[in-house]
Amino acid sequence: MGTVFMMIKKLQEALKTNGRFDGALILSPENRFYFTGFASSDGFLLISADRAVFITDGRYIEAAQNQIQNCEVVLQQSAGKQLAEIFADMGVSAVAAETERISVADFAKYGDFLKPIRLIPDPLLDEMICTLRTVKEPQEIEKIKAAQRIAEAAFDHILGFIAPGKTEKEIALELDFFMLSHGADALSFETIAVSGQKSSMPHGVPDRNIVQYGDFITMDFGAVVDGYHSDMTRTVAVGAVSAQQKEVYNTVLRAQEAVLAALRPGLSCKAADQIARDVITEAGFGAYFTHSTGHGVGVEIHEFPRLSVLSADTLEIGNVVTDEPGIYLPGAFGVRIEDMALITPNGCENLTQSPKELIIL
Ligand code: ZN
Ligand code: ZN
Repeated sequence: MGTVFMMIKKLQEALKTNGRFDGALILSPENRFYFTGFASSDGFLLISADRAVFITDGRYIEAAQNQIQNCEVVLQQSAGKQLAEIFADMGVSAVAAETERISVADFAKYGDFLKPIRLIPDPLLDEMICTLRTVKEPQEIEKIKAAQRIAEAAFDHILGFIAPGKTEKEIALELDFFMLSHGADALSFETIAVSGQKSSMPHGVPDRNIVQYGDFITMDFGAVVDGYHSDMTRTVAVGAVSAQQKEVYNTVLRAQEAVLAALRPGLSCKAADQIARDVITEAGFGAYFTHSTGHGVGVEIHEFPRLSVLSADTLEIGNVVTDEPGIYLPGAFGVRIEDMALITPNGCENLTQSPKELIIL
């Protein structure tokens, strides 16, 4: 609970000094969870420089009162009236809402409720929250690691399960069943398991496609623990590999390791992406690396910062980012290798412990 307590405190510091708004209305489930540590489909988090109030309905009130320790918890009765009363009581004059996560209709509705207090759509609030969320607290990192340990155990397990004749769907379900029966609260996303020609599709959907001798199988999967996600990808071969498969695999691996070796505070995310792209381009496969190199992971599976040509961000201590280059040869096969790394004062700590050298089952 110490961690979430600090998160509200940090946002309150930003409220005191920004000069544009002195209150925040947090409506999105992700950010309500981030600040309170309490997951719910509905609720309102009201924050001023020195107070924080969580309003939730009868379905959640008992659990919220038991679990939330860093703000007042209030039973929702007439939300509009309560929002106006509490913000008035807080003495705020302008309240910011999350522009990236609130609908135009909700914005108009809550704006009417709050009058005469102004509700303003200010992207600065999104930026403040994003800045907080990209730098992970130690307790957040522990949850991500716990989630990753479960995914790694699932990977160990699946190596003994994959065989010619199994379908992609069976492999994906086996990974899912293993993770959910070994401590995962949920899956990070719909598990990807694609084999043979279909491995050339970065986000192919597992189906009845049957694993054959000589196939590559790419598996991209993750577990959720206490609201925090993990993300890993491994490509393994069945039976034997061709010279070209080996060349492509080792190129992706070199690109992936070159990025890991370079990750450190102060490195631009664009430069991190370019490192992978350079290795793959020099090997002649530049046209077949069709996505960005990585992304932040945390309360959501895709967060900032993004390791991408479009990113203007710079890596900071406490970021958790994936490193996941790939090469996809249409109609032939594909390879992706993905680890998660924590940016540390001197470089990075690879949070992924599963082996990466080519495994031929
Ligand atoms: Zn992934
Ligand atoms: Zn990823």
